Amino acid sequence: MANYGRDPYWLMARFASTCKCGAAIKKGERIFYYPSTKSALCPKCSEAASADFNACTQDEAFYNSGY
Ligand SMILES: [Zn+2]
Repeated sequence: MANYGRDPYWLMARFASTCKCGAAIKKGERIFYYPSTKSALCPKCSEAASADFNACTQDEAFYNSGY
């Protein structure tokens, strides 16, 4: 398997914070977290970012499988 150590992943917010869009992230919410930038997204942005990320990894898998 490839190294996914720096890829974003889902987790439960351990403390309240603020998304880059300005929305509040409440403790216990399921959020998308980026280890490389140590930033988290609100649930709404998380859904969009997760969809983008999955689309990217699926493209990669598709291209890699062809060569
Ligand atoms: Zn947001």
